[in-house]
Amino acid sequence: MTDREHPGAKTSVFLRAEAERMASLCTGCGNCLRACPMVAFAPLAQAAGADEVMQGVRDLLRGGKANAAALSWIAACSRSALCSGVCPVDGLDPAFMMRVAKMRAMGALGDPAQIAVREDAQLAQRVKAFARLTLSDTEQEEWL
Ligand code: SF4
Repeated sequence: MTDREHPGAKTSVFLRAEAERMASLCTGCGNCLRACPMVAFAPLAQAAGADEVMQGVRDLLRGGKANAAALSWIAACSRSALCSGVCPVDGLDPAFMMRVAKMRAMGALGDPAQIAVREDAQLAQRVKAFARLTLSDTEQEEWL
């Protein structure tokens, strides 16, 4: 299959590599978890310690199965990005890490889904309709 036929392939390769990189950098300090307003809506993460939650996140980023506490937090993430400023590690943005973790948990990077995914049968049509408002004819020919 060519990139033209499957334009998301390169993105998936990049994001899986980023997931590995971020899992290696994360020390599991838990600063991002403590800064997150959505933990209040993730009872399993709230009940677990930061060590357990962050271990599950790293397992998931590496392509493994995440524990229930980590999946609870990942599923609740609303992209507030309040975690971004609290990470002590250079080159690691917890908000991006959680974004990639959620994609991985939803099966969007080619892994089996580990959290429930809400299907939207109209999504592709709506994205294309919006894209037609902004793309040139040539870009539409190439991308849509
Ligand atoms: S703040 Fe950074 S190093 Fe600490 S657990 Fe979160 S992502 Fe990992």
